[in-house]
Amino acid sequence: MDLGLNGRVAVVTGGTSGIGLACVEVLLQEGADVALCGRDEARLSKVAAVFAERYGAGRLLARACDVTKSQDVAAFAGAVEAWRGRLDLLVNNAGQGRVSTFQTTSDEDWRAELDLKFFSQVLPIRAFKPLLAQSDAASILAVNSLLAMQPEAHMVCTSAARAGVQNLLKSLSVEFAPTIRVNSVLLGLIESGQWERRFEARADKSQSRDVWLAELAKSKHIPLGRLGKPDEVARAIVFLASPASAYVTGAALEISGGVSRFI
Ligand code: NDP
Repeated sequence: MDLGLNGRVAVVTGGTSGIGLACVEVLLQEGADVALCGRDEARLSKVAAVFAERYGAGRLLARACDVTKSQDVAAFAGAVEAWRGRLDLLVNNAGQGRVSTFQTTSDEDWRAELDLKFFSQVLPIRAFKPLLAQSDAASILAVNSLLAMQPEAHMVCTSAARAGVQNLLKSLSVEFAPTIRVNSVLLGLIESGQWERRFEARADKSQSRDVWLAELAKSKHIPLGRLGKPDEVARAIVFLASPASAYVTGAALEISGGVSRFI
């Protein structure tokens, strides 16, 4: 299937690791030029060098930008406008989960989490909307979590914030129609930088990565029996964000190996 991405321009926030990194690569493979951001300059340079080698330096723009800071996001949007003067796809992916119960979540933690989950959507959408509005195939894809629909007590503020984000996206899919489509993915457990950090911090250091991941999948009762791979998520994201899904807006696609317990 032709996704219609050849010559298109995409932005991926949090494009230096895990799911975002996989999205950047799939978009490049499908013929889009990609601007990506993250906060860590060293990681940005490394990713830019690897992809320049594989796909040509001219097809990638890598910029430091903290998506919770409006000045950073405005500067990133300005850089994309100067670079290509257009934008077709915005993938809002940057972020990470917070493990905490209500008991262990301070007011400061609540504010930081709401800041990360909401403003990582609000700021890029506001900054890139004028460019997106000029495209004949504009779409926004938000990377969200199944926690939005199926909250976990040990991730209480992440779950609550994720639910609010889904509500926001539904409103935007109506407000921005018919010019810009707005969709989301609801992720289960996907092997990425986040899980790599949790593996490094495991209690039993004698456990191998494979054994640790297998036990994790078992303990979470994932019907497909394993965590997802970033590339498996990226292909679904790129399809939903691409012109190939032109009649889909306001939709949320679960990518979780079947872990949800609701209909
Ligand atoms: P990774 O830790 O592998 O990658 C996160 C990316 O986001 C990095 O590029 C990181 O770069 C960037 N990032 C984080 N915070 C900011 C910020 N404030 N501004 C700009 N960039 C930022 O994680 P994943 O690939 O797992 O996560 C991708 C998305 O998927 C996140 O929103 C996450 O919450 C969501 N998700 C993931 C799940 C999973 O199981 N993996 C499950 C549910 C949702 P840097 O640190 O340099 O800024």
